[in-house]
Amino acid sequence: MTRTVEKLVDAVRAVEGAGFVVHRPFPIAGLEQVDPFLLLDEMGPLDLGPGQAQGAPDHPHRGFETVTYLLEGAAQHKDSAGNHGTLGPGDVQWMTAGAGVVHSEMPAEHLRRNGGRMHGFQLWVNLPKRDKMMAPRYQELPAARIPKAQSDDGKVQVTVLAGESLGARAVIETRTPITYVHARLLPGGVLDQALPTQHNALVYVFDGVGRVGGTKAKQGQMALLKHDGDVVRVENSADAGKAMQVLILSGQPIKEPMARFGPFVMNTRSELIQAAEDYEAGRMGRIRT
Ligand code: FE
Repeated sequence: MTRTVEKLVDAVRAVEGAGFVVHRPFPIAGLEQVDPFLLLDEMGPLDLGPGQAQGAPDHPHRGFETVTYLLEGAAQHKDSAGNHGTLGPGDVQWMTAGAGVVHSEMPAEHLRRNGGRMHGFQLWVNLPKRDKMMAPRYQELPAARIPKAQSDDGKVQVTVLAGESLGARAVIETRTPITYVHARLLPGGVLDQALPTQHNALVYVFDGVGRVGGTKAKQGQMALLKHDGDVVRVENSADAGKAMQVLILSGQPIKEPMARFGPFVMNTRSELIQAAEDYEAGRMGRIRT
């Protein structure tokens, strides 16, 4: 039986970093974190003029993972371990901050100079206590290495960042069981996505309009699903004028105490204080320019 919708919320417009606009389906009033997920931001889609692109200069993370998935544009990153690179359309960076990373995330130089279109997502995934202080790890995959599949009728295309969909299995490794699928449904497309019943699950519609677990949902709306099945049905109606695109997320809840402040997500308040002290003292490193 298909999972139905517990709650449908509208993403809220927020300003991040040095002033870039994001749409945030959670955490917001009415939909706090959904264990193990802490936050989802949709950056854009935005058409930027020359000099308008903003990013997030040097900042730390400890105790969780940040997952960046870019659809349009280009993003540059640099970190305290000496890693640096550029993400382009379809590329994914799954960063396990673990004990601590200081990094910067900026639109690519040419985008800052000339302007252009920017669209992407950042998801924050909590880590279980046993992994919070692990050595930082990067899994950075170009679009060509992210598994994709389509339905027999060709009306549904999926990109599998984590978990499994339409027979395609993700190559990215997660610390706890997670599903992260980008699905694009042409008019008449129907996707039955398996999601373990005990997983907390979300479907975010970021393009078009259709049905999620039988409930109508449109661009900018996030559906939190009930635990009443092991599959969710996403449908774009046959007479829709355009494609519907969604992110499907599910994860096994971690169910541990959480202490959260800004870029640090730990289990206790004293661990949070320690994180702030370690960052201030430079123990999470610095970005060498
Ligand atoms: Fe960051």
